[in-house]
Amino acid sequence: MDGEKVRFDNGKWIVPDSPIILFAEGDGIGPEISNSARSIVDAAVSKAYGPSKKINWSEILIGEKARSKYGNGIPKEQMAKLEEYRILLKGPLTTVVGGGERSLNVTIRMTLDLYANIRPVRYIKGIESPIKNPESVDMVIFRENTDDIYTGIEWKEGSAEAAKLREFLSSSFGISISADSGIGIKPISRTKTERITRAALNYAIKNKRRSVTIMHKGNIMKYTEGAFREWAYGIAKSSEFRESVVLESELSGSALPSGKILVNDRIADNMMQQIITKPDMYDIILAPNLNGDYISDEAGALIGNIGILGSANVGDTGGMFEASHGTAPKYAGKDIANPMGMIKAAELMLTFLGWTEAALLIREEVERAVIEKRVTSDIARYTGTPPLGTKEFTDRIIQSINTK
Ligand code: NAP
Repeated sequence: MDGEKVRFDNGKWIVPDSPIILFAEGDGIGPEISNSARSIVDAAVSKAYGPSKKINWSEILIGEKARSKYGNGIPKEQMAKLEEYRILLKGPLTTVVGGGERSLNVTIRMTLDLYANIRPVRYIKGIESPIKNPESVDMVIFRENTDDIYTGIEWKEGSAEAAKLREFLSSSFGISISADSGIGIKPISRTKTERITRAALNYAIKNKRRSVTIMHKGNIMKYTEGAFREWAYGIAKSSEFRESVVLESELSGSALPSGKILVNDRIADNMMQQIITKPDMYDIILAPNLNGDYISDEAGALIGNIGILGSANVGDTGGMFEASHGTAPKYAGKDIANPMGMIKAAELMLTFLGWTEAALLIREEVERAVIEKRVTSDIARYTGTPPLGTKEFTDRIIQSINTK
């Protein structure tokens, strides 16, 4: 295979000029939108760096494509390739609700220990939003990705395992759980909370952000979500960050000193309504896995369309970049799907690779397309302009990059 592996040294990405990057097309609309994103990345890299840099794409088969060839959504040899090259631009994958194999997305996140799910949500002028001042929405969600109820430790109602656990809880702690219950376990650890908090604070410092808000339901789930809050504050107050951070409790109404990052916390249900009523008050939101999942889509809705968002799943030794939406099966193969979410994912990937000039080119040209109303039908239905197909949208972005 042409190209070289990206390496990692103490959490730093060491990126050669011709890195090998994995891609998986995904299911449903996946192939159309991921091929769109890759061709736009190639155009932007070529424009930004000429022949001195080039991505060597290498496909891994995951999802339907793998199932039809190997009878398994993520075969062993594909997994080995993932573990070797560790950076993946991934199209959306189908996940069966209430049964079937474990979510492939979760499997990839766990395998590469991609503990930070980072989703920037910033309004793009020209998109119809359900709120009055969408211009004030500029948030980044940091969702812990490897802990919490998502670890998949759960047993079905009526199973022998659920019965055994009920019996253990009853005999050891006098806790009674109704016999017709499914049971899930929610672990939240100090180590995983501390590393996601470090990632959020380092991001805040590097990107000169205003605040980090810890979202939790610690008033009810004291030793999991309450502990998340406590451990996150512990890191913010530690010598590692003390110089950069001011706690809300220390401000007592006065203005935030310039150059400092405000750290505060909000109970999850309050947080859900606050980002709608006062979006300008929130900047980086740090949340455990389940809260982070919910708030990510809610924040996306504020800017009118979750189809345009991408997310980075990163750890100290790898990254997976994907659109925030799913496979939208009813649009598959129809040249209708909006590829902006997947393009955003690719832009984030370039940023993590340190190829920021190419990332910026993509961002500018996608935003210009929206302002000029060169958009796919999901956005065009609100702007009243004729929609572009996925391919034409892509070709016109490439054209505008090439002629810059
Ligand atoms: P979805 O695929 O995100 O689609 C929901 C709706 O969102 C679509 O019907 C469509 O709305 C709109 N939409 C989403 N992406 C779009 C795009 N690129 N262009 C235009 N419209 C878009 O959510 P879902 O139907 O709940 O999930 C379908 C499958 O995707 C499930 O198997 C789910 O598990 C999977 N999924 C995968 C991921 C992932 O791989 N990371 C994430 C989420 C869901 P309208 O009908 O209003 O036009």
